[in-house]
Amino acid sequence: MGKKVGNTVKRFGARYGATLRKRLLDTEQQQKAIYECPKCGMMAVKRKFVGVWSCTKCGYTFTGGAYAPQALKK
Ligand SMILES: [Zn+2]
Repeated sequence: MGKKVGNTVKRFGARYGATLRKRLLDTEQQQKAIYECPKCGMMAVKRKFVGVWSCTKCGYTFTGGAYAPQALKK
């Protein structure tokens, strides 16, 4: 029972296709990511809960996407 890397992938199991699994991973990374505050411009915006984002520097709280403050530019 060695500790394995890639537990995140493992957690989603094999019932998802590779594409969906990758999308879920991207989503999780977006949730953990820190974003730029639209008010003070600091990279300090974290997700508070689904759809709600808060800047840890200035306290600015705003609603946005469920997994990222705005739709990501591609
Ligand atoms: Zn701010």
